[in-house]
Amino acid sequence: MSYEYSNQELLDNVAAEVRICTKCPLWKGRKKAVPGVGSPESQVLFIGEAPGRSEDIEGEPFVGAAGKFLDELLSKIGFPRKDVFITNVVKCRPPENRDPLPDEVKTCTPYLNRQIIIMQPKFIVTLGNHSTSYIFQKAQLPFRGITQARGKTQEITLLGMKIAVFATFHPAAALYNAKYGDQLVEDFQQIGKELLKRGIASV
Ligand code: URA
Ligand code: SF4
Repeated sequence: MSYEYSNQELLDNVAAEVRICTKCPLWKGRKKAVPGVGSPESQVLFIGEAPGRSEDIEGEPFVGAAGKFLDELLSKIGFPRKDVFITNVVKCRPPENRDPLPDEVKTCTPYLNRQIIIMQPKFIVTLGNHSTSYIFQKAQLPFRGITQARGKTQEITLLGMKIAVFATFHPAAALYNAKYGDQLVEDFQQIGKELLKRGIASV
């Protein structure tokens, strides 16, 4: 008799490895690694950059100020946090919230790739420069910065799968410039419409 592992079990395995990972130097400064959160069955995956201070304390992505705004954006389109999956490019907090270094991204992203392969999402939303640049490069799409990349759905082949990707600003950008907040609201309205059009329902 064969046994099929559920997405939950497979994602739990990745999370367990992430929590004790020492593959790059970021483990030294972390309180908790942040593997990701949400519904393992979701067809929608949100990818941020890296845990910040609150996330490092709680071990959950987007629980600080930027996370509150992300929760608002999500509930406006009828996809509460529990019905999507949310993770980051790197799973441990960089010191002083600096940008993740290329080596750290390279070392950590096999975990993100595994999460994507397990979930087989239909729709990926990249939040900000880092996740957008990572996913676009992986899909061999040209990337000329978030401002050019944002606000549209593109069909890509990623890790052998056909996936739609939508890039937008990082929700933290809205905290220092309201202009980005307005564009995020617009982008999320568009994301809501795309999900509806594609028959992707909240789980
Ligand atoms: N910013 C991110 O990119 N990810 C988080 O989890 C929190 C803030
Ligand atoms: Fe491991 Fe990623 Fe944390 Fe580095 S950032 S220690 S690769 S989980």
